[in-house]
Amino acid sequence: MPRIEIDLNPVTHITTDAIGQPGQRVFYIQGSTVERVVTVIVEKVQIQTLALGVEDFLTEILQRYPDLPPVSPDFDETMMHIQAPVDPLFRVGELGLAYDADSDLAVLVVREIQTAENEGDAEEASVVRYWCTRSQLHAMGRWGLDVSGRGRPTCPYCGQPMDPSGHFCPKRNGHKH
Ligand SMILES: [Zn+2]
Repeated sequence: MPRIEIDLNPVTHITTDAIGQPGQRVFYIQGSTVERVVTVIVEKVQIQTLALGVEDFLTEILQRYPDLPPVSPDFDETMMHIQAPVDPLFRVGELGLAYDADSDLAVLVVREIQTAENEGDAEEASVVRYWCTRSQLHAMGRWGLDVSGRGRPTCPYCGQPMDPSGHFCPKRNGHKH
């Protein structure tokens, strides 16, 4: 049995955000209902993968259920930042998406990462299920692409990210620029 198993069904709001200096940002997913807010930590690449996956996922749903109304990914940026207190429940190892046609709700499932410290038994990994509308999911995906793309500027010589303090460029023999 998972140590923690939470179903937010449905969420009133779901979003992702990054906190911290460029190059050291920590990424979060946060979903809320009237009663509770559940925040988890994710990697930037997980947000990027999820954001792209959401686009494909929503397209597939519409192909399978062509009578469904299309949804808009529009969002109000002021609503998309996560709310304090940011008290993450766990760090995410796996993310998954599923869809329930009866309720026309999508579910984003996040599972706790398995590490040496929590002695990885996958069946015990904590899990949170964020049930959301297709438009909530779409907005979160689009916003997630924005957030994850807003990191460090890219070096014009080698294409690697540059820290605010500069960067030792392998293409320029380690010269800092
Ligand atoms: Zn460089």
